[in-house]
Amino acid sequence: MSAHIIDGKAFAASLRARIAQEVAAVKTEHDLTPGLAVVLVGDDPASWIYVRNKTKYTEVAGMRSFETRYADDISQEMLLARIAELNADPDVHGILVQLPLPAHMDERAVIQAIDPRKDVDGFHFDNVGRLATGAPGFVPCTPLGCLMLLKETLDDLAGAEAVVIGRSNIVGKPMAQLLLREDCTVTLAHSRTRDLPSIVRRADIVVAAVGRPEMVRGDWLKPGCTVIDVGINRITLPDGGTRLAGDIAFDEAVDVVGAVTPVPGGVGPMTIACLLANTLTAAKRSLN
Ligand code: NAP
Repeated sequence: MSAHIIDGKAFAASLRARIAQEVAAVKTEHDLTPGLAVVLVGDDPASWIYVRNKTKYTEVAGMRSFETRYADDISQEMLLARIAELNADPDVHGILVQLPLPAHMDERAVIQAIDPRKDVDGFHFDNVGRLATGAPGFVPCTPLGCLMLLKETLDDLAGAEAVVIGRSNIVGKPMAQLLLREDCTVTLAHSRTRDLPSIVRRADIVVAAVGRPEMVRGDWLKPGCTVIDVGINRITLPDGGTRLAGDIAFDEAVDVVGAVTPVPGGVGPMTIACLLANTLTAAKRSLN
């Protein structure tokens, strides 16, 4: 094993500590406590865990946390009314509606109801357009975390060949935009891409956000490249137990690449840290 293992857990902890210091300064200097509102509809166990962690880390950073939980049969009108309240609340600087929403709701309409200035997930059309055109706005938390890890690992991203695998609105597409903004030459691959291994093989930077355990094999990777593994997949073992795996065959990759994020402990912890960073930014922008 020769690759540098990118420690997202440690980086996220130091980012959260820096955010907590800034929160304390904003409180002292401006009498302002950044506030994050999280809205959860339904009882999806994974969403409950995410929301619990978001609330915990928000409070640890010294921010105010507002949590709203609804049963999965509430009407879309009720949810929109709550979002309107949060939009108007001066103590709330960031609003996050936990996805996925129940099937009877129009996810897109719900996200568009959030004030773009409080859209700390960066999913509102306004923020998507800002990212695409290079204007300041909010960038989705997971790709933002991936970019921070890349910048921490590589001195310069300019001119690098980057291949992003996966074109979701929450990870792949914004990741490609961010890498383009860093002057990478970007290829955005997906399930219809032909001969994916040969495309990945030319990449200096690989970001995998697919959701298929260990799909990217060691022999797909260019020696010395940097790999960011966004995938979180649970694999069942022969003894009936389970373990988490990324989209990269980690044990193969470590013998080939220059640096790689582990799963868990890579990208995952960065997502919540970036949510806190976006909420702090939203609070600071509200001062003007
Ligand atoms: P998603 O919406 O399901 O998108 C998956 C993408 O992968 C799609 O664009 C799909 O292509 C592409 N894909 C599927 N099979 C492929 C194949 N055989 N070859 C190439 N591309 C293929 O997933 P997501 O929300 O972006 O999440 C991706 C993974 O990241 C999941 O494991 C998720 O759990 C994880 N994740 C982690 C975090 C974190 O905080 N660490 C945050 C978000 C997501 P098409 O568009 O053609 O269908």
